[in-house]
Amino acid sequence: MVYLERVKLLKKITIIIPCYNEHEVLPQLYKRLCAVLAGVDAYEFEILLINDGSRDNTLEVMKHLHEGDPRISYIDLSRNFGKELAMIAGLDHAEGDAVIIMDADLQHPPELIPEMLGFWQQGYDDVYTKRSSRADESFLKRWGANTFYKFLQRVTKITIHRDVGDFRLLDKRCVEALKLLRETQRYTKGMFSWIGYNKKEIIFDCQPRAAGATKWNYFGLLELAMEGITSFTTFPLKLATIFGFSISLVAFMYMAGVILKTMMFGDPVQGYPTLLSVILFLGGIQLIVLGIIGEYLGRVFNETKRRPLYLVNEYNGRKITYHKELINERRSNDDV
Ligand code: UDP
Ligand code: MG
Repeated sequence: MVYLERVKLLKKITIIIPCYNEHEVLPQLYKRLCAVLAGVDAYEFEILLINDGSRDNTLEVMKHLHEGDPRISYIDLSRNFGKELAMIAGLDHAEGDAVIIMDADLQHPPELIPEMLGFWQQGYDDVYTKRSSRADESFLKRWGANTFYKFLQRVTKITIHRDVGDFRLLDKRCVEALKLLRETQRYTKGMFSWIGYNKKEIIFDCQPRAAGATKWNYFGLLELAMEGITSFTTFPLKLATIFGFSISLVAFMYMAGVILKTMMFGDPVQGYPTLLSVILFLGGIQLIVLGIIGEYLGRVFNETKRRPLYLVNEYNGRKITYHKELINERRSNDDV
């Protein structure tokens, strides 16, 4: 009885782990997590596993772990929605006073959790981790990441932290703030910066994947980069205006030059090559700019559909018919 009362007083921490085809690594992760959590008895833990439409036995492993440990809950999404949406599914269902988001593949060492909790106790709302180096990645990936961060930082007003992943502790206030951002095409890394609050950085060594394979390919990373740029800046849309002005200026000067030359020296104008290059150059720029507008328009289109961000198939063994998100939305409408 006394023990039960003590448990009730403890603050609850939810550890959110999005998983896609991670059946090999989940038992290892569970073992490492248990070892760490056993050393922290000042909190009650909930481990929330999100199965993001895995095609291997991830769901069976989750069910097995859930049966063996009451701290473990799982959400089975109705298909693969991608990590960004799997994370918001986790945030929506987390009950803790703080949440910790981490990858399933043990690239994020669970041993860092006590340190994160320490900083949270000191009053930080968002304890994020920065990887000490990207030396393990290919040159192309590093170069791509570098260029992307440089560009994004230059054109957006909010600070996007470099080499900072999704491994972080968030106070409930941050979780509630993130839950308000219901955009379909999410760049969560930018959202963490956008919400602000009191942040603390921890440097950590990113481990190689314990088992299984990465889900990212270059195309996927490019998509994510586009998401980052289009969600956090409208600068590319201004390029049309900038190009337009500069090209008009150059064209005007060129035209003045041609007229002067003809009047002073009576040169015949050599039209064909000049005309062709100008038309091709302008055509190219117009297509680029149209493409940029298209990227934004496509996103506007996707947002206006206002679809739920994800659908839940099963929550701790219970088949879900009415979507939790919809229920919450109804509740908040009733409140108004
Ligand atoms: N993940 C997910 N849905 C996906 C792709 C990935 O939930 O569609 C999860 C994956 O199981 C892992 C985390 O996101 O826990 C990071 O994925 P991964 O390790 O493949 O990415 P990397 O570390 O190579 O950037
Ligand atoms: Mg990984």
